[in-house]
Amino acid sequence: MLMMNGRATITRAGPRRRAPTGRVLMASNRLPVTACVEGDVVQTRPSDGGLATGLRGVAREWPVVWFGWRGLAGEVDDGIAEPAPGMDGSATVGISLDEEEVARFYRRCCNGVLWPVLHGWTDEPPAGDEDWRTYRAVNERYAEAILGQLRPGDRVWIHDYHLLLLPRLLRERRPDVPIGFFLHTPFPAPEVFQAVPRSAELLEGMLGADVVGFHTSEYAGNFLRAVESIGYVTRGSDVRVGGRRACVKVHPMGIDVDSFARLGTDAEVLAQVAELRARGGALFVGVDRLDYTKGIPQRLLAFERMLEMHPELRGQVSLVQVAVPSREEIGAYRDLREVVETLVRRINRRFGRSDWVPVDYLYGRVDLTALAALYRAADVMVVTSLRDGLNLVAKEFVATRADGDGVLILSEFAGAAAELRPALRVNPNRIAELAEAYRVALAMPEAERRERMRELRRAVEANNVFHWAAALLDDLPAPASPAPVPVGPAPGALPRRRSLVHP
Ligand code: UDP
Repeated sequence: MLMMNGRATITRAGPRRRAPTGRVLMASNRLPVTACVEGDVVQTRPSDGGLATGLRGVAREWPVVWFGWRGLAGEVDDGIAEPAPGMDGSATVGISLDEEEVARFYRRCCNGVLWPVLHGWTDEPPAGDEDWRTYRAVNERYAEAILGQLRPGDRVWIHDYHLLLLPRLLRERRPDVPIGFFLHTPFPAPEVFQAVPRSAELLEGMLGADVVGFHTSEYAGNFLRAVESIGYVTRGSDVRVGGRRACVKVHPMGIDVDSFARLGTDAEVLAQVAELRARGGALFVGVDRLDYTKGIPQRLLAFERMLEMHPELRGQVSLVQVAVPSREEIGAYRDLREVVETLVRRINRRFGRSDWVPVDYLYGRVDLTALAALYRAADVMVVTSLRDGLNLVAKEFVATRADGDGVLILSEFAGAAAELRPALRVNPNRIAELAEAYRVALAMPEAERRERMRELRRAVEANNVFHWAAALLDDLPAPASPAPVPVGPAPGALPRRRSLVHP
């Protein structure tokens, strides 16, 4: 389990790190904590994935009220703002989803249709009318919860493809409130997005925001072309929406650079690094949610090919692959797990020896110390996404390398490639070229490795998660009454969580 709920000490520096004056009401599908039932007891753990990990740091430092689902179907959460665990000063408001809503909204519309289409896959079975009605109903529930908590001076910041209708639903009720929307996935070419039956309604939903943010200029350009294709007039990065305008911005997400840099010199992390290094030979590392967008089979095939073509490397190099369980209730994810694990077994059977396991595969979560140790011990970090909104793992690896060494192999299809130019850039679909990039990484002279890492660190440090969040919020119009107000439940807040129905 990745534990990121310890309080970080942040040294503030740079012009754009100031905290916002009013509160930020943040909405995302998942809260930064996930609830799970173990026996009869409800446990919570930090949520996985880039959005939760990155924004947790912001919510620790800024006055945030975070609206989202805790991950348990049937849990009744009544919109009360509760203190966020491990995030002094911030609060969470749980949004409940029942079993049917989880199936229709979360599995079918979000993970079954929107996730693949936004990443360029269009052959998924479409969701039906009832599923899309549920998608809208869940977005409306968020709108109600946010409206119930809004105070003068608040700004609203909505995240990701689960809540595409929410900006407009709020705008219709509160035209005066500043609303930002950020999409953490890619945005595909307009003709691909049109594969979603409700594409026009979804685009109009996003246009309810004052600022619509993306990781790269490619995604922003695709979005502008998509809204033009349904009749909106654009001027530069502005879209005219009735009497107002929505502004499209490129803000690639940053990470909590200082925290990862500190981990890179932490005694416990270094002890684990020593253990990893004691295996001998060069170490490749991959860390991903087990998702078909991450190119894990391609990564393994290229590793197998390298061992095939270069017998002298056998026994000299190993790959540690962490595969974080994800969306296991969806068939495509179970199939992917089967493919990946079959490949791992094949490679280890073909090349393994009593003193050497080529691929060390872990299906599970790792804690933050173990994660940082892997980043810090890696000779080569491999990110081979077939399509990826950004890829925070690449940035976390770089930030952890306070020693200035290590090679990053990075897919050209990850949004982070636009910023992390000194990485070894690959097209993961070309297995032979990927295998060759592995060999080039292994043979890279130390001076070149260090020079590239210096440049990579400069790029990551130039845009940490606080800069990123401040930049997006700075782009919003000022709230009507910007007086600073303390965080906490609004007067007359709703009753506390009532009951729990186990799924
Ligand atoms: N991560 C995690 N649990 C783990 C290993 C990694 O939560 O066991 C985090 C990792 O630190 C990173 C995030 O998951 O912040 C993955 O983000 P990324 O942008 O690379 O991909 P996403 O999962 O959002 O598609």
